[in-house]
Amino acid sequence: MLAGYAVYVEDSRGRRFPEPKHAYRNDFQRDRDRVIHARAFRRLEAKTQVFTRRYSDHFRNRLTHTIEVSQITRTIAGALGLNVDLAEALALVHDIGHPPFGHAGEKALDAAMRAQGLFFDHNLHALRIVEDFEQRYAAFHGLNLTFEVREGIIKHSRDYDAVEHPELAEYLLDQRPPLEAQLIDLTDEIGYDTADLDDGYEAHLLTLDQIRSGVPVFDRFFREVEQIYPDVPDKLKFNETVRRVLNQFADDLISNTQTRVEKAEIKDLSDVRRHRERLAAFSVEVDMERRQIKEFLYGNLYYSPSLAGEKEDAERIVTELFAFWMENPSALPSSYREKAEQESLPRVICDYIAGMTDHYIIAQYEQRCGS
Ligand code: MG
Repeated sequence: MLAGYAVYVEDSRGRRFPEPKHAYRNDFQRDRDRVIHARAFRRLEAKTQVFTRRYSDHFRNRLTHTIEVSQITRTIAGALGLNVDLAEALALVHDIGHPPFGHAGEKALDAAMRAQGLFFDHNLHALRIVEDFEQRYAAFHGLNLTFEVREGIIKHSRDYDAVEHPELAEYLLDQRPPLEAQLIDLTDEIGYDTADLDDGYEAHLLTLDQIRSGVPVFDRFFREVEQIYPDVPDKLKFNETVRRVLNQFADDLISNTQTRVEKAEIKDLSDVRRHRERLAAFSVEVDMERRQIKEFLYGNLYYSPSLAGEKEDAERIVTELFAFWMENPSALPSSYREKAEQESLPRVICDYIAGMTDHYIIAQYEQRCGS
C-alpha cells in the first residue's frame, strides 16, 4: 500500500521514447533492471569507495556500497509507504557517475576541467551516462529511463540553479524532488558512515578507543553491547554496535520524516514538490550524531597519512592523463575522436576518464605517461 504522497508509477511522466508496457514489470522496476544491466553499473565493482584493493578484497567498493545503500533505501522507503521500486532504482544509480579513485579522482578531474573553463559534476555525468553513453537499444541512445528516475539522478543530493543550468529546465528545478529521491542522500550517508567506521577499524587505521572517544553515539551503544555480551571478542562488540547505530539512524529517518510530513499536512506528491524545503530528514539529535561521525571520519580516516600516498597517486594519474590527451588527441580511441568533432576536447577526455575503472586508468597511465 502506497502512501498518498508516494510516486505512483501509473502517474509517471514517462520515457523520452515511448515504449510498449512490459507484461509483468512496471516502468520503475524496468528502470531498476536497466541500471543493473548497464556497463557503467558493472564498472562500479572496480572503482574505489574509500579503500583501494591494496587493503583488502572485503572492504567496500563502489558497487558493494551501492548495494548496501539500496538495501537501506528499500527498507526505509517501504516503512514510509513510498514507491520502493523507484527508490531502489535511484539508490542503484546514485553513484554511477563517479570517476575512478573515489573523491581524489573526482577532485582532480574537476580541477583539470576548471583549468579549461569547465567543470566535472558526478550527477550531471550520471545523467549523460543514462541518456547517451549506454548503448543497448537499436532505436535510441542511452537507457530511456522514466522522467522520475532521471529527475532523481539530478536532484537527489543537491539543488541546481535554473539560471546556471538551463539544460536541466525539464527537471522542475524550482520544485523539491519526490520523497523517494530525497531519501537517497540520507541513506547514502547512513551507508557510508557506518561502513567507513567498519572498514577503517578492519584496516587498523581506526582503533576502538579512538572511535569510542570521537563518536558519542558509537560509545553509547558500545556500553549497551558490553552489558549484554561482556565476554565476546571486540570485533563482535564492534559489529553489534555498528548495527545499532545503523538501525538508530534508519529508525530516526523514518519516524522524523513521517512526523514532518504529517506536520506539513502533506497529502500528495504535488504537496511534496511544492513544500518550501525537503521533508526527508533526521531529527536534530540524530543529525548531530551523524555529523559527529562524519567529522570524525574526516579528521581520522579520509585524510589519514596512510591513505595520503594513494590520494596523491590518484590525483597525479588523472591530471597527467588528462594533459596527455589534451596534447595528443589522436591517441584517443576512435569513438572518442569522433565525439571530439561535435563536443569540446576537454569534455570528451573528461567523459573518457570518468568512465574508467581504477585498474584501467592505471594501465592507461603506465602506457601513456610511463611510471
Ligand atoms: Mg554513495
